[in-house]
Amino acid sequence: MQAFISFGSNLGDQVSLVESAIDALRNSDSVDVMAVSPWYRSKAVGPGQQSDYLNGVIELDTALSGHELLDLLQALELDHGRERIIRWGSRTLDLDILFFDNQHLSTERLIVPHPRCTERPFVMQPWADIAGDLILDDKKVADIAAELTDDQLCLWQDNPID
Ligand code: AMP
Repeated sequence: MQAFISFGSNLGDQVSLVESAIDALRNSDSVDVMAVSPWYRSKAVGPGQQSDYLNGVIELDTALSGHELLDLLQALELDHGRERIIRWGSRTLDLDILFFDNQHLSTERLIVPHPRCTERPFVMQPWADIAGDLILDDKKVADIAAELTDDQLCLWQDNPID
């Protein structure tokens, strides 16, 4: 099954957290990492003063079900210190399933395609970088990304947080 997941981090040592999560996926017997997008820096949306996010998208190939993949990602979030205190609040590591094998699922735990992803430049831009021709809702990922604007979204490598 082809899956795309997004990662985001705006707390702690963001680079180490993301590198460690990608390593854990690469070392997992349950998934193959097919592609990792360039990393982006984006402004936080949510309450109060929050640091900028480190964001990107990963393509996986997996024999897991969607719910099993969610279990794996939630275990990784916990391993990386994710604390669910404030909705939309800062997080050390957030992993979402964007797309799972062209399936449309809507259960209590899992909605795919991810319902809000097409509104988010910090998701669609890195996704377009690795899978611009993928069709989502009858549209190419690259075309959805091109319709979104975010003047503050930039490549992490050009603007790292010290
Ligand atoms: P968040 O705090 O934004 O990471 O949301 C986590 C919650 O969203 C968890 O309770 C998940 O069960 C649920 N959820 C629903 N659909 C998805 C999805 N596509 N990817 C990740 N989490 C999801």
